[in-house]
Amino acid sequence: MGKITGFIEYQRLEEAAEAPRARTKHWREFIVHLTDGAAAVQAARCMDCGIPFCNQGCPVNNIIPDFNDLVYRQDWKTALDVLHSTNNFPEFTGRICPAPCEAACTLNIHDAPVGIKSIEHKIIDKGWEEGWVVPQPPEVRTGKTVAVIGSGAAGLAAAQQLARVGHDVTVFEKNDRVGGLLRYGIPDFKMEKSHIDRRVEQMTAEGVTFRTGVAVGELGDAPVTNWASEAVEPKQLLADFDAVILAGGAEQPRDLPVPGRELDGVHFAMDFLPLQNKIVAGDKVRNQIVATGKHVIVIGGGDTGSDCVGTSNRHGAKSVTQWELLPQPPESENKPLTWPYWPVKLRTSSSHEEGVQRDWAIATKAFKGNSDGKVTALVAVRVQWQIDAVSGRSTMVEVPGSEFEVPADLVLLAMGFVAPVGPFLDGFGVAKDVRGNARASTDGAGSYQTSVDKVFAAGDIRRGQSLIVWAIREGRQCARAVDEFLMGSSSLPR
Ligand SMILES: Cc1cc2nc3c(=O)[nH]c(=O)nc-3n(C[C@H](O)[C@H](O)[C@H](O)COP(=O)(O)OP(=O)(O)OC[C@H]3O[C@@H](n4cnc5c(N)ncnc54)[C@H](O)[C@@H]3O)c2cc1C
Ligand code: SF4
Repeated sequence: MGKITGFIEYQRLEEAAEAPRARTKHWREFIVHLTDGAAAVQAARCMDCGIPFCNQGCPVNNIIPDFNDLVYRQDWKTALDVLHSTNNFPEFTGRICPAPCEAACTLNIHDAPVGIKSIEHKIIDKGWEEGWVVPQPPEVRTGKTVAVIGSGAAGLAAAQQLARVGHDVTVFEKNDRVGGLLRYGIPDFKMEKSHIDRRVEQMTAEGVTFRTGVAVGELGDAPVTNWASEAVEPKQLLADFDAVILAGGAEQPRDLPVPGRELDGVHFAMDFLPLQNKIVAGDKVRNQIVATGKHVIVIGGGDTGSDCVGTSNRHGAKSVTQWELLPQPPESENKPLTWPYWPVKLRTSSSHEEGVQRDWAIATKAFKGNSDGKVTALVAVRVQWQIDAVSGRSTMVEVPGSEFEVPADLVLLAMGFVAPVGPFLDGFGVAKDVRGNARASTDGAGSYQTSVDKVFAAGDIRRGQSLIVWAIREGRQCARAVDEFLMGSSSLPR
């Protein structure tokens, strides 16, 4: 523990951010990591409470008290080693993780939690700045081959772990660039894509082969991003590789089948966001969906919806409104009831700060359009959520006479993702769970194994749409399971 009285003496300091009006003029990141000195002071707020709930709250179990102590002592290189021992890509999580660790911080019971995410962000940025993040190629090659399908956070974490223990890893990605939703879901203003490129370079030097523009198996119509120019059959991969990891994400978006859904101007969020990321990357894009000068309605209150808000404001939308079906959550949580768990409370993202009208407990009834087939308005109704006396379940009831209409030139559907793309899983013949995800347990012998021999699954494709940090955890744990399967035992962490 760095400073015994640190948590009494020092206040939490948020990372500096460019002002909302200025930052909506560009697509770059706008959050500035802490200085060395500020990070040391923030780390000194950690009281090394004995039972580090933060470490349990973090899905990759980052060893938070230890790196806090090292940062307080300004031993940055060891702090980086500690951070990397549990997390392959802290520059991703240090930017876009919602930080469940901070909800679990003991200081959060009665005060503001330690700024764990900002310390993580600082450690890894310093690591890159100092040139300490270098390839770690294996000393011995095993001669075993592994195919990883999907280059999102789960696929990348699995591939890096397996390459470092000497396996020959090939990552197949249907898109034209590596990164999954890190690349084509999350906008550049939340995470610039050079962070992915640097890791791809590092992993290539560690022996990973990336094959972009290659679709494995059947995809149906579901995925919005599919820039494959080549196809590979599942049976070919099963014949060519000693193990296969399915890390294709959960790309089937939830639809809103109400009258007028077919109108021009009603799109899935993932029709909208990836094209903007391509433009920022310097690509030429045909038929880009733009929000410029439009009344934009975003349906869905989560991360995806928030990214649509930030992107629409950068396009110069006339107005941006975001609706959520669920009721407005409380401003703050009842900590004695919720700690150390992730509480339901009102969350205002940096995109919300840039300008949006948010409203809750609204259900869309229909889209209206003009004679050209373009959307012009949205018809909605207010709803109430009630507990059903018989089943005890929360049910939605429309408020009589509450129907209303608002103008809309662009409607973005951001209501989450239902499941992985079905035909792709069927191509491998793997069993699915009730939600359509690849069925594989995470416990005990045979963890991450699907119902098909030598086929494993990790990330959103197994657990459903989740978080980057969960995808990294699953990729790492799956890598260990694959290594054990191939070698009989593994030195990789659990
Ligand atoms: C818009 C948006 C914003 C988000 N924001 C956040 C956030 O701020 N913080 C956070 O923690 N989480 C966020 N998430 C969730 C997070 O991005 C996902 O949970 C995470 O990316 C899942 O990683 P994954 O590796 O399992 O899958 P993905 O990232 O979806 O990657 C899967 C990859 O597999 C490829 N693929 C699929 N099928 C095939 C095939 N048959 N052949 C070849 N390639 C294939 C896909 O093209 C894709 O590149 C967000 C999600 C979205 C949609
Ligand atoms: S990965 Fe997320 S939960 Fe874990 S320490 Fe970093 S911010 Fe916290």
